[in-house]
Amino acid sequence: MNRPQHRPRKRFGQNFLRDPGIISAIASAIHPQAEDHLVEIGPGQGALTEALSASGCRLDVIELDRDLVPGLLAAFSINPRFKLHSADALKFDFASLAQEPGGLRVVGNLPYNISTPLIFKLLENAGIIRDMHFMLQREVVERLAATPGNKNWGRLGIMTQYHCQVENLFEVPPSAFFPPPRVQSAIVRLTPWPESPWQPCDESQLRKIVQAALAQRRKTLRNNLKGLIDAPTLEKLGLDPGARAETLELSQFIEITNAING
Ligand code: SAM
Repeated sequence: MNRPQHRPRKRFGQNFLRDPGIISAIASAIHPQAEDHLVEIGPGQGALTEALSASGCRLDVIELDRDLVPGLLAAFSINPRFKLHSADALKFDFASLAQEPGGLRVVGNLPYNISTPLIFKLLENAGIIRDMHFMLQREVVERLAATPGNKNWGRLGIMTQYHCQVENLFEVPPSAFFPPPRVQSAIVRLTPWPESPWQPCDESQLRKIVQAALAQRRKTLRNNLKGLIDAPTLEKLGLDPGARAETLELSQFIEITNAING
């Protein structure tokens, strides 16, 4: 895309991809097909948009910075399957785009300041999403893909893995962007489970339990869950009340949730 002079704006988290090798590696990971329906969040100056549009897929893009809209329209509105939404992705009604369950493929080199609330919003819409590919701060990807016992194992990873399979695909150095961010980035793929591997449970209750259990990471399960579940009930579930919550598997958080609700 032809880039008219645009000064990258910090408040919109603008670090534009410039490295053709990285752009093509991301496009290969996404592997868009003509029959797909892609939604790109924050197309910016179109670095990824170009590869997506070239696949012939149906493509909706959501961009907050109005100054970028004319350039995007000039480059892509010739494509009849392209539609630009000049909007805030955090307020956007993703369900309005979905014609069938599990249909949307969401992608984005996300502004780092909105990545966590945006992922939580998209998890609420997991039923209409086939997969998601995001460029995020490396630490956020490590939290998403964390496993029990790891210091990164927390609310973000647990609630994401409740809804999705998480794959940490590859890292992207600051030199791939203009301006270069101060942090390392990584690409993650989130695929909502077609059939959940977990026992059903009340999700809002699960979120509360995870938050309470991990509130003070050095404290024991018994202490962090005081008032919610007692030590004998934890023992009945085969759990050590003296253990730290960060060692618990997601299935065990679900068992605690169901024991409290049950
Ligand atoms: N995709 C482009 C690329 O890879 O070069 C731009 C990525 S840049 C990190 C983030 C983009 O998201 C910018 O274009 C920014 O204006 C846009 N953006 C920031 N906040 C947004 C929001 N709440 N909703 C939609 N777009 C947003």
